[in-house]
Amino acid sequence: MRNSDLINNALNYQLRIETNNLQKEPMRQLVIVSCMDSRLDIFKIFSLGSGQAHIVRNAGGVITEDVLRSIAISQRKLNTNEIIVMQHLDCGLKILDDVEFLDEIENLGGERPAWKTHAFKDSRANMIGSLELIKNAPYINSENLVGLLINETTGEVEKVE
Ligand SMILES: [Zn+2]
Repeated sequence: MRNSDLINNALNYQLRIETNNLQKEPMRQLVIVSCMDSRLDIFKIFSLGSGQAHIVRNAGGVITEDVLRSIAISQRKLNTNEIIVMQHLDCGLKILDDVEFLDEIENLGGERPAWKTHAFKDSRANMIGSLELIKNAPYINSENLVGLLINETTGEVEKVE
């Protein structure tokens, strides 16, 4: 494996950190949903530290069943009550076509996955749709919900409501 140095880093992690006594309930009672994009350093963007927030990431930072599952567990069992959704302008999902991509996967593996790519073209519209999905989930507390759109090149962040 090309990244075996990273695995070794993990195996030696205990030598590099001081043991912490953080609780599993995030200190800021916050969930951040974000894209998996490697340019988005969520801890740096929010000046966040360990133990402060749940971070749920996927391709696009889109609101899937599984993201709703994670938020529900976070809120009901781990005492969070604020949600930030962070998506970004140059997202890989914008170059995807849902049908084309699923055709491609089906051709490779012989089976069509049940999931959708959640590809989108318009970042703002996608964010508004994402916030709606959270608001429409009856088991989620969306009283404190904020959408942030970041330009990953300039670092400019815009609040979307
Ligand atoms: Zn992205």
